[in-house]
Amino acid sequence: MKLWIEGKVFLSEGNIEEACISFDRTIKEIRKTCKPDVTAPSDAIILPASIDMHVHVRDSQLAYKETVKTASSEAAYGGVGLLVDMPNTVPPVNTPQRIVERLREFQNFSRVDYGIYAGVGKEIKEMEKYPIAGFKIYPQDLDKEEVYQVLESSKLKVLHPELPWAERLADRRLRDVWLELSAVELIKDYKRIHITHATSLETIMLAKKYNFTVDLTPHHLLVNGETDCLTKVNPPIRGYTEREGLLKGLFYVDTVVSDHAPHSNQEKSWCYELCPPGIAAVSFTTPFIYTLVKKGILDFRTAVRLLAENPARILGVDYGKIDVGYGANFLILRFQEWRYHTQYSKVTQTPLDNYLLSAKPYMLIVEGKVAMLEDEVFPIRGVNTFDQNRRA
Ligand SMILES: [Zn+2]
Repeated sequence: MKLWIEGKVFLSEGNIEEACISFDRTIKEIRKTCKPDVTAPSDAIILPASIDMHVHVRDSQLAYKETVKTASSEAAYGGVGLLVDMPNTVPPVNTPQRIVERLREFQNFSRVDYGIYAGVGKEIKEMEKYPIAGFKIYPQDLDKEEVYQVLESSKLKVLHPELPWAERLADRRLRDVWLELSAVELIKDYKRIHITHATSLETIMLAKKYNFTVDLTPHHLLVNGETDCLTKVNPPIRGYTEREGLLKGLFYVDTVVSDHAPHSNQEKSWCYELCPPGIAAVSFTTPFIYTLVKKGILDFRTAVRLLAENPARILGVDYGKIDVGYGANFLILRFQEWRYHTQYSKVTQTPLDNYLLSAKPYMLIVEGKVAMLEDEVFPIRGVNTFDQNRRA
């Protein structure tokens, strides 16, 4: 069934105009006037749904930390219409069979569109045949023989830039920016590389020099040092100088990701040396970036590029634009003040809690269906955006 939505729309040329969009699962037509089925609130803007290309959804044997249902609900609450999942699950997603099982988990329970990365394993050529978003390369993978087959793959490669033994350094302060720079240098001759969670401007500029794409996370900008388990994260939060530099990096990176990495309350109550690193705030990124628009730090065009257009281009999917033929994936956003907290994640405490935001996702439409309205998430089913036959 085709529906019409009316409101202020961020169109693909970058203008915000009063317009009507007709859609079912895809956008059929855009015109000036219509008899709408849905009217966006007068203070709201219809934007492309956001993409988060770095999320640890967990589930399987780590379901006590987070599940596909809880993570995808939290994503919908935060205006994310497409999330891409990391393969360091238990067991890891690094064989064709695990890819099939993982995709089935998402097919059954994901409330937003999704993709998955595979990890470095033995059967690279076989894994490439599946509808995956690409490969994730962890620091320790750089020591494996198979990593060269992955680096030469035509698929996207997302690199966590640190040297293989970084995590074995007992003093986390020794794990500084030079480890990131060295890892980027190590793979500089390969193509279609994406550097994730850069923690310094130097890393971002080096990635750009080698024609890589690159992202940063809000927590590496905002969290004021690692003071306890709640703020412990990989790669570590850097000092004030790096964080200040990273703010400039916001104007050079291609996208912003959450690196949503949930752990149980019990795990986060261990002592600092032993507790697992990770901050779970998949719902923070989108309202945070649009808050920077409200404050005049970023313009709308840049924000939409960071959250939707650029990640779609990096991932190679038809997403991130409001235009005829694209999927009907909309974020309807309002500028209003609220204090951040998670809503659907199993993680109820993050270092970003109570952060004052000036933008709030009001409604999220995924594949033409309402996935979230005024904080309520609905049990719709997302699709694997990397599956060519998904709309057949
Ligand atoms: Zn991660």
